[in-house]
Order: sequence, then C-alpha cells, then structure tokens
Amino acid sequence: MKAKQAIAFGLGGFAAAAAGGLVARFYLGRRRADREWAAARYPKLEDVGAVKRLTILPLIDWYTAREDLAGEPGVSYLVEADDTTILFDVGYNVRGEHPSPLLRNLEALGVNLEDLGYIVISHLHCDHVGGMRCQRRRTFALSGEPLDLSGMTAFVPEPMTHPTATVEVVEEPRGIAPGVATIGPIGRALFFLGWVEEQSLAVNVAGKGIVLVVGCGHQGVRRITDRAEMLFDEPLYGLIGGLHLPVTASRETLLGIPLQRLAGTGRPPWSPLRKSDVEEVLAYLNGKGLRLVGLSAHDSCDWTLAAFREAFGPAYREVRVGERITVT
Ligand SMILES: [Zn+2]
Ligand SMILES: [Zn+2]
Repeated sequence: MKAKQAIAFGLGGFAAAAAGGLVARFYLGRRRADREWAAARYPKLEDVGAVKRLTILPLIDWYTAREDLAGEPGVSYLVEADDTTILFDVGYNVRGEHPSPLLRNLEALGVNLEDLGYIVISHLHCDHVGGMRCQRRRTFALSGEPLDLSGMTAFVPEPMTHPTATVEVVEEPRGIAPGVATIGPIGRALFFLGWVEEQSLAVNVAGKGIVLVVGCGHQGVRRITDRAEMLFDEPLYGLIGGLHLPVTASRETLLGIPLQRLAGTGRPPWSPLRKSDVEEVLAYLNGKGLRLVGLSAHDSCDWTLAAFREAFGPAYREVRVGERITVT
C-alpha cells in the first residue's frame, strides 16, 4: 500500500510540475510577445507598389465548393497578384498521402506547380506545413513524397529548411513581389503549442487598399491590422483567412476533447474563447470599414462563420476550396 501511495504521489507530483511548467512558459511567453510587439517599429513599405488584380483561390480549407475537391482542417491558398503567383501555406495532409489532397486539388483545378513564383509559409504548424512530421522536422512538404522545388524561394517566419527549395527566413516586414509584402513575423505564446511566429501577406490593390491573407491568425486580429496600418498609408480593404475563433465546436477533436478550442487561441485552457470574444472581433473589424472579409473554417466553428456572414453581409465571401475570391 505504501509503495502504491508513493507511486501515486510521484505521478501526481510529476503532473503538477508539468502543468506548472506549462503555466510558467505561457505567462513568460505572453510577456515576451507584448515586449517584442511594443519594440517592433517599422517604416512604411513605400516601394512595394500596387497590383491591378488579386485573386485568392483556396486550394485547401475545411469547406469545398465542389464534391471532387478535398477539404481538410488546414490551409493552402493560391494568391495571384497580377503576374505573381504565390502558394500561401501547403495544407495539412494528415495521412501523409501521395498525391496529397493539395496535389489532387491542384490538378482538379488545373493549377500547374510550374506556374508558382513563390511559397510563403504563415507559421510552423502542422495544418499549414503539410503534416505533423514536417512540423517536427521544421520543414514543409506539398505531398507525402518529396517534390523537386529547385529554383523556388520559400519565405518562412522562423528557421526552417527544405531539401530543394531556397528558404528565406523573414525577420521583418518586406516586399516579396510587386504589390505584395509580408507584414513580418509576430510572436504569440500558445498554452499547449508553445511559442509561434506567424506572418500574413499584405497585397496592395490599386484603388482599393490592402488585402490581408492570413493563415491561422495566432497573432491576434488587432496586431495583424495594426501592423498593416504601420506599414501602409493605403486603407485596409480586406481580410481573407483564419482567425482561430472556435467557440462552440472544434474541427479537430481527440477523444471528444475540442483541441482547437483549447490550443491555439492564445488563452489558457481554463479561459476558452467565448461568443462575446467573436462579437468583439466583429465590432473591431467593422470599425475598420473592411469591404471584403472571408473567414477560413479550418480554425473557426460554424457559429463564428455565421456571425461573420451576418455582420459583413455583402462584403462577406465564403472561403471554400475551388472558389476564387477576386479583387479588381
Ligand atoms: Zn496554427
Ligand atoms: Zn491553422
């Protein structure tokens, strides 16, 4: 009996220490994020220029526009800004398939890999880099078998490697192509997932303004828009992508545990996001006067999607695999 008690005490102590470690890491990370945010001051990106036409074609997301296309709780968008074609994130490929859902969708949609100019990785999470294996190895993959990406440049928000692509770590906001910039990495502490650096794309559409393309939105919507306003004189026009707002359900669950509600929100697990948080985001974005909003379903629940639809009315666009969102 004594031995059993000792083991129970030992295990209990271990769990308490592990939980304490997570709590300490989270609060230290939160302070680091605030400190880095306060110190990050950048000049305007004056030389980026503008494009006449922008289209965003979701290649991977939760919902699809057609039955022959694959949906996943991940992100990959084809961003076409005049003559520049960017693959923004590379999906989840949760089963490590080859060809991956991304490659199958590319083929079904008639998109040629040779037409890609650049790859941009929003952040090093499995649903954006092509799977958990890639996340652990700090790399990215478009499919379960290696593809030759020689000659292709990939802009990543923290140190990563790739066997064939040229990888450039983005350390601050910068132009990538005419009219297209990254707003630079913004760090956030996530309770279970730890520290993450995430970057979003900003496309300057002539006569309209800045359209933001966002991966998971771990940075927090205020910091994303604040950063864009720091970098551009043009008004914010649109925001397409994920903002991680799972409040009533989670796309990913484990043994009934709503993983996304507990992980990835920037909140401790005892204080999950609520509907009032979504309402606050909606009021904030509405105050920005956005003319184009499309929320990714990969990291938000249907309740949040419905709330966005209602709040933005005709300015709202569905983010569905195979359905182009065009700004001209
Ligand atoms: Zn993420
Ligand atoms: Zn995500």
